[in-house]
Amino acid sequence: MVRSPVGHTSGSPSARIAVLGRGPVPARDPVLRADDLGVLHGDGLFETMHLRDGRPWLRDEHLARLVAAATAVELALPPTAALVDLLDEVRKGWPAQVEGALRLVCTRGPEAGGPPTVYATLAEVPATSRATRRDGIAVATLPLGVPAAARAGLTWLPAGVKSTSYAVNSAARRWARRTGVDDVLWTSSDGYALEGPTASVVWLTAGTLCTVPAAGTGILPGTTAAWLLAHAAELGLDAAERMVAPAELHAADGVWFTSSLRGAAEVHTLDGVRRARCPRTPDVQALLGFPV
Ligand code: PLP
Repeated sequence: MVRSPVGHTSGSPSARIAVLGRGPVPARDPVLRADDLGVLHGDGLFETMHLRDGRPWLRDEHLARLVAAATAVELALPPTAALVDLLDEVRKGWPAQVEGALRLVCTRGPEAGGPPTVYATLAEVPATSRATRRDGIAVATLPLGVPAAARAGLTWLPAGVKSTSYAVNSAARRWARRTGVDDVLWTSSDGYALEGPTASVVWLTAGTLCTVPAAGTGILPGTTAAWLLAHAAELGLDAAERMVAPAELHAADGVWFTSSLRGAAEVHTLDGVRRARCPRTPDVQALLGFPV
């Protein structure tokens, strides 16, 4: 029997997996060993990309972040060309009209030693992610318990790394669900807004599109926010990286959560306070090129 990950030709394509060194495998087949340090310790890295028109948007930016993270955590990544081949393998034949969530995962590998485990997954962008572009999100601030500069000041701690250790991020999102909000915005103990558990925060104030600097705060340098700010001039806006207090966000002309699958989701409610819809949201979304 020829086992192919290639899904349907109509309707929703089925999820796919391709493994470095093995190629495409049926999505239900095991890929990781039970003693893989990615599973045992969350010792691994990942990237999630938006597949649009069949191609990964900002692929090179994601790969660059992954390579930088691998250096920071001393993980022996395969050559970038092999990663590109793997991404090409998993997306081959994916219907161009279907938005895809393309994930690249590199774990430390077996506990007793051995090469990293490297695989790619591809599935449809969840309807919930797509809905946030249209509907916006309610966000609550949530203390992270450390000063804004604390993590970046620890030279032993790799900062801005998209690690598979998402226990803290997952706890924050569970808190959001229990609290009845869509997402949270972490705040530092010295009163600054930092990022969401899976998103950067972007805001518009006096004609300037802003986000929080990753350097000095230890937050993840978001590819979506960076691209948006680099292209702000196309909207007639300036761009800046700034520290910001929640009170300033309340006063901002627009606040969004940006991430690779959501694109830009407008924050319509912050800490229970309803915000006026920002008239620039459609422009921001059109510039980013995510269907709404
Ligand atoms: N910050 C965190 C903690 C994230 O997990 C993510 C994405 O998952 C982001 C920011 C947004 O990054 P990007 O725009 O590269 O998806």
